[in-house]
Amino acid sequence: MPEFQRNLNLILDTITDGVLVVDSLGMVLYANPAAERILDRHELVGKSLAIPIADGEKPQDINLIRHGGMAWAELRSAPIEWEGVLGYVIGLRDVTVRKKVEDELKRSNDELDQFAYAVSHDMREPLRMITSYLALIETSLAEKLDEDTRQYLRFAIDGAKRMDRMILAMLDFSRVGRKTAPMAAISSREVLDDALAILAPDIVAGATVEVTGDWPELAASRDELLRLLQNLIGNALKYHEPEQPPHVEIHAEATPALFRAEIRDHGIGIEPSQSGRLFKVFSRLQARARFDGTGVGLALCRRIVEHHGGRIGVESAGEGAGSTFWFELPRTHARSEALHETGCRS
Ligand code: ADP
Repeated sequence: MPEFQRNLNLILDTITDGVLVVDSLGMVLYANPAAERILDRHELVGKSLAIPIADGEKPQDINLIRHGGMAWAELRSAPIEWEGVLGYVIGLRDVTVRKKVEDELKRSNDELDQFAYAVSHDMREPLRMITSYLALIETSLAEKLDEDTRQYLRFAIDGAKRMDRMILAMLDFSRVGRKTAPMAAISSREVLDDALAILAPDIVAGATVEVTGDWPELAASRDELLRLLQNLIGNALKYHEPEQPPHVEIHAEATPALFRAEIRDHGIGIEPSQSGRLFKVFSRLQARARFDGTGVGLALCRRIVEHHGGRIGVESAGEGAGSTFWFELPRTHARSEALHETGCRS
């Protein structure tokens, strides 16, 4: 046997991925040891296998029943001529462990989503009672209260209202991928225009918003993209010095595979060492007295981007130097929604 052939046989015997060659009817012409192990069958040559053969780039996952229980393999195939017979070569990779971990992750994510939703939904009710009874006490005792006590009541009411805003923001957060519009072909420009229309009251006198670049169609959840743009542009309009009207530049670029948008402001900027923290829930850099907010906006943005299989980040040269928030989304929704999709409560 020539050396090349010997080495090839050694390679095929050693690799942990399965390699099969079948004829056009599915009869096995060749199987390496890994293929026999993955399929949990021996002496495969000459036997017929009901195995799907898909020509093409994308691997597909198939479900196998082995003695040890359920198993999954990732499969790829290509046409081949094998000792004069036309057939297919099939690559098999055992992905059972990956599938089990994914299933477990999905289950635990679903449970967490469910929990966050239930908590935020059910907590609003007692909170509303606190707010409305405090307001009632305030009005009915108005005459009898001294200034200090009235102030204490105001603080209590403000606190309860702020908590309600935070709970509402959490509710929004737990809705991503569950209660939002499904992935569909949408015009990014139309969604941007809707976001700008919603933000019109925040585009105060002297503020400028500039839109440039290429805004194509992409596969996305309309609600979520709207929310994403609204939050990022809203922040760009909000975080500026009072004497300096906001100037916001919104730019997008696209390749056939990727959509990238940048929202640049010339506002208060961000200390680069702090930028990783911003995308976490309830994380804020500014005192509430200076800029009000819940600290959920950017966490929601990150979740939306991840739901689309994309990335988000920020660049800033530091405090006072303005910031540029950017995100990238695949234009076709390649990633499965397995990790976020549930949908029980409404
Ligand atoms: P919120 O605006 O409700 O506080 P976000 O999650 O949207 O919550 O933002 C988190 C924090 O990130 C903000 O409190 C602020 O400190 C900082 N931040 C967000 N956007 C900008 C921006 N464009 N310029 C400077 N700081 C920003």
